[in-house]
Amino acid sequence: MLTPYDIVRMKKRMGMSSGDFLDKYTYTEIDEKTLHPFIFLKMNGDADRNCPFVTREGCNIYADRPANCRYYPVGQASLKKMDDKADEAITEEFYFFVKEEHCLGFKEDKEWTVRSWRDDQGVDIYDDLNRGWKEILFKRNHPRHVLDDKKQKAFYMACYDMDRFRRFVFESKFLEAFDIDDQRLEKIGNDELELMKLGFDYTKYILMIEETLKKK
Ligand code: SF4
Repeated sequence: MLTPYDIVRMKKRMGMSSGDFLDKYTYTEIDEKTLHPFIFLKMNGDADRNCPFVTREGCNIYADRPANCRYYPVGQASLKKMDDKADEAITEEFYFFVKEEHCLGFKEDKEWTVRSWRDDQGVDIYDDLNRGWKEILFKRNHPRHVLDDKKQKAFYMACYDMDRFRRFVFESKFLEAFDIDDQRLEKIGNDELELMKLGFDYTKYILMIEETLKKK
């Protein structure tokens, strides 16, 4: 599964627009319960179903490989449980191992902790930048957050298709509808990661998770 920040890094690496990258390298699955769209890397159509970026020399986008490739063979999961003191549901994140025979790293002597592995693989920036998107996913079980077709398309655009979302912000009536201060607007115009954060805010707004944007 690809995260919004993975897509920004990978499409830049390939010198493609987000729309072209998504069309060529990914497919979408819709969560049955909430109808949220999730993006997956499309494997090659041959019998081995290899990743399209793997070569004899290794990963040809290694410096921009997705977060899940960086974490592997460590998996991440989250569990919702009741916090009796606060009387509300909290989300607890934890790690687990994916032990598969083809992973030769298990044959090496060096020992790793989750912390040292995370540092070595440079995942902190991915977790930081995807935080807003994860907050949307953690809230997904509330009936108010179930998406209709229009909201599903908006979610897809605002979280994954940054080039289209940029056009939506600057070329539609978006800025007439929402009050975005000049400083933030300038940052959004110059920095795709600021645009991505606006995308998370917009998604939270349309899903009624949080009043992240102010209407004019
Ligand atoms: S690390 Fe492996 S699976 Fe991940 S993008 Fe690169 S080649 Fe593909």
